[in-house]
Amino acid sequence: ETWELDDAVAIVTGASSGIGEETAAALADEGARVVLAARRTDELEELADRIETAGGEALVVPTDVTVEDDIDSLVETTVDEFGRIDILVNNAGVMLLEPLERAERSNLRQMVEVNLLGLMNLTHAVLPLMQAQDAGHIVNVSSVAGRRASANVSGYNATKFGVNAFTEALRQEVTTDDIRTTVIEPGAVDTELATHITDEQILDEFAEMDMPMLSPEDIARSIVFATAQPQHVSVNELLVTPTGQT
Ligand code: NDP
Repeated sequence: ETWELDDAVAIVTGASSGIGEETAAALADEGARVVLAARRTDELEELADRIETAGGEALVVPTDVTVEDDIDSLVETTVDEFGRIDILVNNAGVMLLEPLERAERSNLRQMVEVNLLGLMNLTHAVLPLMQAQDAGHIVNVSSVAGRRASANVSGYNATKFGVNAFTEALRQEVTTDDIRTTVIEPGAVDTELATHITDEQILDEFAEMDMPMLSPEDIARSIVFATAQPQHVSVNELLVTPTGQT
């Protein structure tokens, strides 16, 4: 157990599956009190049971990060229950890949609203609290797609490049307030992410792809690594890919 995370209060968005689920469980294993945020309440309740069975502490707050009232009540409920917010893991995301020529505008909007605007608004809501505490850590889950653009990924690329830029700009604004930021850039991870793609051709291409993948636990470990550092150490950026991914 890493003492730095003992009793820390951590909000994890997108905690109902994949990377968010395993990150919340891993932070709880290290002694953090975790707040589980996403839309699917049943999945969040199941995870809370798992964490509590393992001796941890979890709070379920059903949240759609595209709804500003949900964001404000997530922050308020966390402070009412736990009194502070030490760590925010902005992990909620969607990846609706398609060539732009036949892209659904609703897909483009959804990616911007979840991956980018939701992350920006929740960070904005949490920041005054962290400044009042003179400490806090914001972990933003970006992607290799936040560093390298590719065909058929334009909308998703735009959101993840946006996450990287937003986080670095914020880092420069708040690092002198002892607030840390970390960008996590996973390569391929075996989760539900690609199952929401609506473009048949891209779905088929994904189904046929035989590539090495990380498990969500592999990324959770990186997030624990970054957040468990002593206060004077800021891990600004982590690019973590499966060995073998080009
Ligand atoms: P999953 O699809 O398993 O998880 C996505 C999570 O986001 C779910 O918990 C989902 O919960 C949540 N979510 C989606 N929309 C909303 C919303 N409007 N409000 C709140 N929560 C929402 O995929 P991953 O675990 O892979 O994805 C997690 C993050 O990792 C994403 O940001 C993704 O871009 C990033 N990433 C993933 C990679 C991969 O290969 N898997 C690679 C690089 C980055 P619910 O539906 O219950 O709301």
